[in-house]
Amino acid sequence: MSLIVQKYGGSSVADATSVKRVARRIVDTKKSGDEVVVVVSAMGDTTDELLDLANEVSPLPPGRELDMLLTAGERISMAVLAMAIHDLGAEARSYTGSQAGLITDSAHGAARIIDVSPGRISEALAEGAIPIVAGFQGVAQDSKDITTLGRGGSDTTAVALAAALNADVCEIYTDVDGVFSTDPRVVPAARRVPFITYEEMMELAAVGAKVLHLRCVEYARRFDLPIHVRSSFSSKEGTWVMSPEAITRAIEEGRAMEQPIISGVAADVNDAKVTVVGVPDKPGQASAIFRALADAGINIDMIVQNVSAAATGRTDVTFTCPEGSVQQAMEAINARREAIEFESLTVDEHIAKVSLIGAGMRSHPGVSADFFQALAETGINVEMISTSEIRISVVTRVDDSTKAVQALHSAFGLDADGEAVVYAGSGR
Ligand code: ASP
Ligand code: MG
Repeated sequence: MSLIVQKYGGSSVADATSVKRVARRIVDTKKSGDEVVVVVSAMGDTTDELLDLANEVSPLPPGRELDMLLTAGERISMAVLAMAIHDLGAEARSYTGSQAGLITDSAHGAARIIDVSPGRISEALAEGAIPIVAGFQGVAQDSKDITTLGRGGSDTTAVALAAALNADVCEIYTDVDGVFSTDPRVVPAARRVPFITYEEMMELAAVGAKVLHLRCVEYARRFDLPIHVRSSFSSKEGTWVMSPEAITRAIEEGRAMEQPIISGVAADVNDAKVTVVGVPDKPGQASAIFRALADAGINIDMIVQNVSAAATGRTDVTFTCPEGSVQQAMEAINARREAIEFESLTVDEHIAKVSLIGAGMRSHPGVSADFFQALAETGINVEMISTSEIRISVVTRVDDSTKAVQALHSAFGLDADGEAVVYAGSGR
């Protein structure tokens, strides 16, 4: 008997029919002899609708109240799912994140899990019931207020619970058959990746592949908990996210093939590029810029500093950040104008970040050469470059991003023969 934590995303529980279908699947899992704990997201686009509602009422809703509102979405789905399971003759009990023991810090809208004490969940399991937990939420340790973990946070709820319960696997159900070599909605020739390491998955999540919440993968890696990403619309095997050692074992057991050099290509169109123009080329200036951004809580990604102009001794510093943080970033830098001594600020929102990810890059020379050749042959200009051991990212014009992804996907031999199936279409 295994203990399985199953997480169902919004598109898997979008309406009453889907809720009943998912209920059947859960009851079947239990009937086959496994213990199951379920984590649910809000139905369909509920979270977006609640956000719209909040913004209609108030231009800047207080974080505490916004969290209270948004957690209502998951409460609805957990209750209706429990009802549907009851109708199938099994016992289900729904729990809010707080009831399930998800203790967080008090950063509303982006709370971090600091402890999980799932006493009530273990009790329910011991009594033969199926616990249904509302994803994406917890309760703050100090203020006791209800918090949310950030968009897409139900994945993290599921992994955190699975780790605390010592589960064998965390299954993340979505509307595609797993993790793909690129977004199947953009490149129909995308192929399912059967096995991927935590590290590669983290890079993919960080560069905009929206399959899994980044923090959920970090968490799974910390506890060495296997994640199985799969579709709730089919019974096919999906993608196993595991440690390199576990993948090697799977290869030895004949469950997995040799791992390819490249596992995926992703584009993120939600970043903007900010340039701080005419910064004096002397010690302390970059520090002043990035300290200002850090103090404002802004996540930045790529950074480029130009060679300074001989005549002026000044240089330009460019960085990328999420489009939603641009306003704040400009304000933060402008507020330290005297320390940074820059001449002007420019913003470009029409960019995309295109990335290639693969653990095999470490040991295979020539990947960068092939990468830039593929972009050159497609006539795509590269504006910024950054790399990690297992990733190459570039900034391009946003209009070029689909072409770039397609070119790289083909160049690295990732195109599949058939077309990928997208069952619902929201990617949640
Ligand atoms: N319902 C939340 C969201 O839409 C959390 C989740 O789906 O994971 O972001
Ligand atoms: Mg999601």
